[in-house]
Amino acid sequence: MSQFQSALDTSIPGLKRLIQTHLKFSLARDASTATKRDWWLATCKAAQSVVVERMIATQAVHHNSNAKRVYYLSLEFLMGRLFSNTIYSAGIMENMVHALEELGLDFEELRSEEYDMGLGNGGLGRLAACFLDSLATLDLPAIGYGIHYQYGLFKQEFRNGYQVELPDAWMRDGTPWEIVRPEHATEIKVYGYVENVFDDRGNYVSRWNGWKKLLGIPYDIPIPGYGTNTVNYLRLWESRAAEDFDFEAFNRGGYDEAVREKNHSETISKVLYPNDKTESGKELRLLQQYFFVACSLKDIIRRFRKTNEDWSEFPEKVAIQLNDTHPAVAIVEMMRLLLDEYSMSWGPAWELVTKTFAYTNHTLLPEALEKWSVGLFQKVLPRHLQIIFEINKLFLDEVEARWPGDTTKKQILSLIEEGPTQMVRMAHLSVVGSHSVNGVAALHTELLKKELFPEFDALYPGKFNNKTNGITPRRWLLACNPRLSDLITSKIGHGWERNLDKLRELEAFADNEEFKSAFMHVKHANKVDLARIIKESCDVSVDPSALFDVQIKRLHEYKRQHLNLLHILALYRRLLQDPSLDITPRVFVFAAKAAPGYDLAKCIIKAINSVGKVINNDKRINDRLKVVFLPNYRVSLAQRIVPAADLSEQISTAGKEASGTGNMKLALNGALTIGTLDGANVEIREEVGDDNIFIFGMTVEEVNALWARGYNPQDYYNADEELRAVVDWVGSNYFTPDEPHGVLSMLRDNLYYSDPFLCLPDFRSYSDAQKRVDAAFRDKDKWAKMAILNTARVGKFSSDRTIMEYAKEIWKLDQKPF
Ligand SMILES: *Cc1c(COP(=O)(O)O)cnc(C)c1O
Repeated sequence: MSQFQSALDTSIPGLKRLIQTHLKFSLARDASTATKRDWWLATCKAAQSVVVERMIATQAVHHNSNAKRVYYLSLEFLMGRLFSNTIYSAGIMENMVHALEELGLDFEELRSEEYDMGLGNGGLGRLAACFLDSLATLDLPAIGYGIHYQYGLFKQEFRNGYQVELPDAWMRDGTPWEIVRPEHATEIKVYGYVENVFDDRGNYVSRWNGWKKLLGIPYDIPIPGYGTNTVNYLRLWESRAAEDFDFEAFNRGGYDEAVREKNHSETISKVLYPNDKTESGKELRLLQQYFFVACSLKDIIRRFRKTNEDWSEFPEKVAIQLNDTHPAVAIVEMMRLLLDEYSMSWGPAWELVTKTFAYTNHTLLPEALEKWSVGLFQKVLPRHLQIIFEINKLFLDEVEARWPGDTTKKQILSLIEEGPTQMVRMAHLSVVGSHSVNGVAALHTELLKKELFPEFDALYPGKFNNKTNGITPRRWLLACNPRLSDLITSKIGHGWERNLDKLRELEAFADNEEFKSAFMHVKHANKVDLARIIKESCDVSVDPSALFDVQIKRLHEYKRQHLNLLHILALYRRLLQDPSLDITPRVFVFAAKAAPGYDLAKCIIKAINSVGKVINNDKRINDRLKVVFLPNYRVSLAQRIVPAADLSEQISTAGKEASGTGNMKLALNGALTIGTLDGANVEIREEVGDDNIFIFGMTVEEVNALWARGYNPQDYYNADEELRAVVDWVGSNYFTPDEPHGVLSMLRDNLYYSDPFLCLPDFRSYSDAQKRVDAAFRDKDKWAKMAILNTARVGKFSSDRTIMEYAKEIWKLDQKPF
């Protein structure tokens, strides 16, 4: 089948030569003086050659067959490191390890030279990265579009237990993976005003005038599939001033003035906004969204028109997926292009647009639903605002036809929220302008239809659908856990890497003593590795035979790291009050970044660090509890923690976590979940079975009922002596003796007075579930079986499965192997 022939020699001597050639000719370095970083760079370049050759072949296949492509638009791509991934996908892992050995280099050491590509906040950005991996692996023609941020998500340090943010200059020393494409630089327009004028055929039309030009420069990152020839790419736009200099100003002697414009333009791609879930009102953020969307659409249309004449073919050749509402202005920009630049009339233009776009909703949190003030839109994108009002007018006609005379329905559904300041509702725009709206887990999609958008669901039957999230098994098992990967392959052979359901064959070994022992030996070895990292970065010694209880994710109230902390305090207190109490020794591992302006989240970090410091140094409890907070949570750190976890904390308030993907990574690597019936936890339970997961807490229905009858945290506080004690304890200055009184009172007050995410009502049920965990971990045999069954039964959560569902049900996209 494969017509592809490589011109490269990827034997061990061939790779050695390739690395040496790059060291010399790409880096201008001599082997005798080369640093580890030089060797790393040369190795990247060698691997990249293999990939680039296939990328050129792939693009020719897609072009020549005029294939339909999907364009994945996302403001975030949390890629992590690309070294192992590239080498695995190039199919040269084994030879590369040997070639490096012969050059006196260690693969693992080289791999840690790489700075994470952290162009995302958390789950949403990581999902985009996993999707790119699956799209290429499944031979689906796809291009990712995003922003080439100069600074990714901030670097986190702790000083005296407080989070400190530092800039993430991820490409300061260059990065070997990207290819700049100045030939595809793109000009776009912003600001200005709209005039109504007669065009050359006597039509009265709207014209956008007085705009400023911006330039987008594309940087391409090749995305190789695993075990296939397909190499897609991720195209990231960097903003530049359209003219280097304002010569007029310069000639007037104003150098400052002359470069100011340039600096302003270049600010657009300067830095990723560090807020997960909320970001609103910022002009620069709207400019970022429009900038990358406008550049991407121009690029998409240019590519379409190279091989197609007829606009009506557009939806047959182009599918555009919006990752949340961040790129939703693309719907309006596409309308503008068709109307104003290609002189199409409204009806056909709107039909093309709605057939092309599809939207993924990621959250039900009301504060996370994007809105832009009409005033800001008017200033930055005046013509787009006009088009939005036109879309809304026609849409409200539809609403009137469906529910005649019902003004409440119109108010609820309108793209414009009326109030003291009129706002554009980007989610409504996305629903109206797309043919598909999907949630990211079964429960989330149900709630999307029943609670968030019931009227839209009634108006557009069949538009809403579910695509449960997934993770790529290449990064989240093969690359991050080589010990477990090797053990699995030794039992069931290869094939699971591209067909994760094959892991079900491991069920046959779940009662096999030898396999159980080998499985837990792998876990132990991974825990020894993590213990070393903990020692290095937290200066805490932990026992690898203790239960590693892990909560790693963005710091957010709804994720309830503070519920975890209350349980830690309860355990600690029980030990102090009964020193002979027999509990399973545990290491609590946290890793999380808090948004810089999110005070309560930062207070929770400080609280965990302060409590940890006291507990870790309390001789009375004989090292039975340890609490560590690893700094600077990011993809490469997750890859070290996930393989070493025994217990996965997925304890969000029911109804708040859309899906979660951390839950999937941890279960795949043999951690048992303690979790609420929220997000994809529900489906994880269905897969692994009730006996192999620890479910606790209120259901969505119970949460709703509690709010309906009125919630008062003090009812729970007063009724539970232990709960009352730990809530007050954390707010006292017991854990922060050297600091001003009340540094943690904010957390205590939050729990006592409002507790918006219901930690108190779920505390007892959580504590009881933790007792079941404690007991289960003592029975080593039983635990091993449960862990194995987790790994064996979560094949569903491969992002390959997710992407095949998108391809078949939303994009109507064919695989193009070659
Ligand atoms: C997977 C991942 C996330 C998402 O974790 P959740 O537990 O699903 O919130 C966030 N950040 C990083 C670095 C990840 O790898």
